[in-house]
Amino acid sequence: MSVKEYSNGEVTIVWEASKCLHAGICVQKLPSVYNPSERPWIKAEKASTQAIIDQVFACPSGALSIKGNQPTKIAREDDGKKGRFAIYENGILAGEMTYTWAGEKKFIIDHTGVEPGFERKGYGKKMVYAAVNYAKDNGLYIIPLCPFAKAEFEKNATLGNVLK
Ligand code: SF4
Repeated sequence: MSVKEYSNGEVTIVWEASKCLHAGICVQKLPSVYNPSERPWIKAEKASTQAIIDQVFACPSGALSIKGNQPTKIAREDDGKKGRFAIYENGILAGEMTYTWAGEKKFIIDHTGVEPGFERKGYGKKMVYAAVNYAKDNGLYIIPLCPFAKAEFEKNATLGNVLK
């Protein structure tokens, strides 16, 4: 697994290639730092520390993180029939995406929601991407019945290879 680090002297960006779903949000938000056609493709010294932190937080897949700082955590809980991806901010439950198994190789995303006070932070998107990475890592397929998750799949064609 390729994990690389890029520092601007104050803050260090960690990039895990295997988690990147190539949504391109990093390139859109901070083109001075992220340029996939150059090497290195991340030049942390080209932006302020705050701009870097804001952008890393917007990476939906978790491929980008700040070294030593894990303000959000996504945990998967499963009872064999149903489960959820729960997102925590500094240890507090901030949202959940629930799913139901449909056979051994498929699960249905039935609901995505964030708790009051945690809206507009991209947490719903992060949970969809966590589910996609989980499916990719385990050879599974997703049926997104939840309208929010369905819309994310429609917006980003690269997620589609886990649809069945
Ligand atoms: S925003 Fe995250 S998932 Fe999207 S291309 Fe950049 S690193 Fe990859």
